[in-house]
Amino acid sequence: MAEDIQSPDGLSVIGWRAWRVEFDCGVPILHSMGFEFAWPAREPAVAECLTCGDETPRQKCSCGLYSASSYGRLLSMGYPLHDVDRELLVVGQVESWGRVVRGFGRSQHGPGPTLGWRAQFGYPKRMFVLHESWELVVPLREAYGQPVLMRDLFADEGREDTTKPTQLDEEWNDR
Ligand SMILES: [Zn+2]
Repeated sequence: MAEDIQSPDGLSVIGWRAWRVEFDCGVPILHSMGFEFAWPAREPAVAECLTCGDETPRQKCSCGLYSASSYGRLLSMGYPLHDVDRELLVVGQVESWGRVVRGFGRSQHGPGPTLGWRAQFGYPKRMFVLHESWELVVPLREAYGQPVLMRDLFADEGREDTTKPTQLDEEWNDR
């Protein structure tokens, strides 16, 4: 387990996000979906921004490690989940800490509730892959030291009200 990778003061938020997998010398490495960013194994991902510098992420910027506050909201974020090779798709919970900003950039979603957080540090907490990606389960778990489970990631996609917890949210919030 990667229990040593956590917020030094115990303050963190748990969000949802998606990754695609690339292999580095046979080891599966999580990459962000929207742009090129590798999430390191066994050490926290660190957000960097030339504009924000030591204060990454600032409220009035769009930088940081993104996570949605629920699985339903993740699905509403417009991730290109169907563009990526399904066998290399990973969805999971991420623990975020350090500087944590609510919301995704400038007025992107108006004054109402935002979809989640942008954070300075992050590390995957639990990962889900499709059943057809069963071969990823053991190598991903060994690389990141966190649980990896097989799920139909799109089972809740038809829901219209993304503000309500989905079955996946409820399952994990009970633990
Ligand atoms: Zn920034």
